Amino acid sequence: MAPEVAGLPLPLPAARALFYLVTMTPPLHADEMLAGLCRWLRAAGHDCSLAECGEADSAVLARARAEGRLLLTRDRELARHAKAHGLPVLLLAGQDLDAQARELSDRLGIDWLHRPMSRCLRCNVPIEEAPAERRAGLPFALGRDEALWICPACARLYWQGSHVRRMMERLRDWAGAGGANELEEGKGTAGAEDEPKRG
Ligand SMILES: [Zn+2]
Repeated sequence: MAPEVAGLPLPLPAARALFYLVTMTPPLHADEMLAGLCRWLRAAGHDCSLAECGEADSAVLARARAEGRLLLTRDRELARHAKAHGLPVLLLAGQDLDAQARELSDRLGIDWLHRPMSRCLRCNVPIEEAPAERRAGLPFALGRDEALWICPACARLYWQGSHVRRMMERLRDWAGAGGANELEEGKGTAGAEDEPKRG
């Protein structure tokens, strides 16, 4: 029998169901038109995979099912297909990022300050502390006590910086926390070589 968590009947594999119970957010799968939102979800620390460009609906649904992910889409037809196949789906109406973020907060209870800056924005995998030799190759000086992180999948480096503070401001805004506090106060760990685009 499928576990029912927070009112959403999700046919999740046991491990995914446990993950959901621990984090209170299901793993997500965004359709290709929601690439920007997907990167911001990763910036907040959520597990969100992204459909390939031009991927067939059947392939999008197959991945969501195989990995026990809740599908995010603005495509009514895709949402209809997902429902017909018994897959959990959230059809978003918001046209811009702010509206979509608000919908995720209201309808899914997304925590925008879940674990900021803990995932690679490109690969969706958790980032790790970078080996010491990577610090030497940086084109700028990083303080001894400043953390440097690396994506184990694509080797992209992440560190704290002004761009991270800007990202944190927006995440705090979406979380309803307000203010632009220092990153150190959050659960976040690192900065990013590139930040999700605003707008
Ligand atoms: Zn990566």
